[in-house]
Amino acid sequence: MEAHASMETGCPSDEVLNTARNCRHYAMCKVDFLGTGVCASGPERGFVAFYPQGRMDLYAALRDGRAPVTAGALAVAESCDLCGRCDYQCYFVTGMRPTRVMRALKEHLAAYLSAGGEVEPETRDALLGRIREIVGEPWATNDPAIAVTYSHDPSPIAVPRLPAYVVRSQGSQPTWFCRDPPRRSPPSCGFSRRQRSAGPRAATAATSSASSSTREPSST
Ligand code: SF4
Repeated sequence: MEAHASMETGCPSDEVLNTARNCRHYAMCKVDFLGTGVCASGPERGFVAFYPQGRMDLYAALRDGRAPVTAGALAVAESCDLCGRCDYQCYFVTGMRPTRVMRALKEHLAAYLSAGGEVEPETRDALLGRIREIVGEPWATNDPAIAVTYSHDPSPIAVPRLPAYVVRSQGSQPTWFCRDPPRRSPPSCGFSRRQRSAGPRAATAATSSASSSTREPSST
């Protein structure tokens, strides 16, 4: 257990980390069920990493050494303005307060950078380029700090898997996970025929490097 407390939160840092590790993925921070508004960056950026749920996962992954510091990680932390809306929604359902984690994420990355920590560079490959041609540059990534927020589910029978690519559309279409590596052209993996014919805005997919053949819908 760590002894120090965050100066801003007055909250022991292990308590903050426990909050991050215990995100239930109920996704209530994505629904304006209290009429207080949802985190602005989520609908704007699309990826779950830009919602409070994803920031909880990212903070836990960084602290647990499961994700590197990348440009995506910095963007995710920066996109939170500490407005506190997620505290209302998450507390109502789980009794947790995500804003402490959001603040800790910013502090963690600031401390890392000020200590001379390096930011892992983006790795571009042909498949990512092909996917981006279809959905547009902002909507496909292989940034591990963003992918890690799609890598697990709190279910006791879920096996954590880090997606190789995360792809989604600008709209609110569900995310599709394809766990087969693509065998032919890249778009054949993760895009239903209906989505392909509807064009890039309707096509949403996360392509995993894992080898099972399951496709699963998700809310982000
Ligand atoms: S505190 Fe940050 S994560 Fe929570 S709703 Fe506001 S901007 Fe989003």
